[in-house]
Amino acid sequence: NRRYRKTIIAGNWKMNKTASETKKFAEELKRLLPRTKWCDIVVCVPAVNIPAALKAFKDLRVSVGAQNVFYEKSGAYTGEVSADMLKDLGVKYVIVGHSERRQMFGETDFSVNKKVIAALEADLHPIICVGETLDQRELGVTMELIALQVKSALAGVPAEKARRCVIAYEPVWAIGTGKTATAQQAAEVCTFIRATIRHLYGARIARSVTVQYGGSMKPSNARELLAELDIDGGLIGGASLEAEQFIEIINAAN
Ligand code: PGA
Repeated sequence: NRRYRKTIIAGNWKMNKTASETKKFAEELKRLLPRTKWCDIVVCVPAVNIPAALKAFKDLRVSVGAQNVFYEKSGAYTGEVSADMLKDLGVKYVIVGHSERRQMFGETDFSVNKKVIAALEADLHPIICVGETLDQRELGVTMELIALQVKSALAGVPAEKARRCVIAYEPVWAIGTGKTATAQQAAEVCTFIRATIRHLYGARIARSVTVQYGGSMKPSNARELLAELDIDGGLIGGASLEAEQFIEIINAAN
């Protein structure tokens, strides 16, 4: 039942927008943002722009998220950012295991798990991305793969922390391709993700975890996707870069 969990519309800006563009976006968003919102809004920005985003979104009730985090607490890890650093700035969410990081930056189920644990330890909410490639879908192994990714990501995570996780179902073939999963395809996997969490932690935790859909979500398909009972929001790439489109998706969740 939906009343046990939050609907979260999260933008994933990827490697887009400078600090000044972040400020401009926030001004546009402020102009367009509806007064009553039934969903939580998050914008995940490049790490260097987190301070600018925190400042710009401050009175908008928009949370700022990071797109990645390293799992060690501190030390000789040139170029990396720790969960404590994010938390200390005022970041609330962090995307973990996005398929682009899995494909291009060597992220594995093992490192994803360590990052989830580090994020939770710092009191951040990890947005854990899972999803199958087109090959995997065509081979008919989607559900096995999703179960494996969810279980690996949450390995060693106790129930009271698991409820603070967000899971984003992002079929790799739908990301940035303009191809969206049908509402039915997306809902089928999101329902399965909740069932997987139920097996791991029981019904009470399963009904309180937010499960998002991501992959070419846009104003024209958001309403249909978000109408599904097991889809509690979206992780939005391309369409989150334009304030107008992002607002339309937020409105679709209301
Ligand atoms: P997209 O990206 O909306 O541009 O498909 C989604 C994502 O990668 O999170």
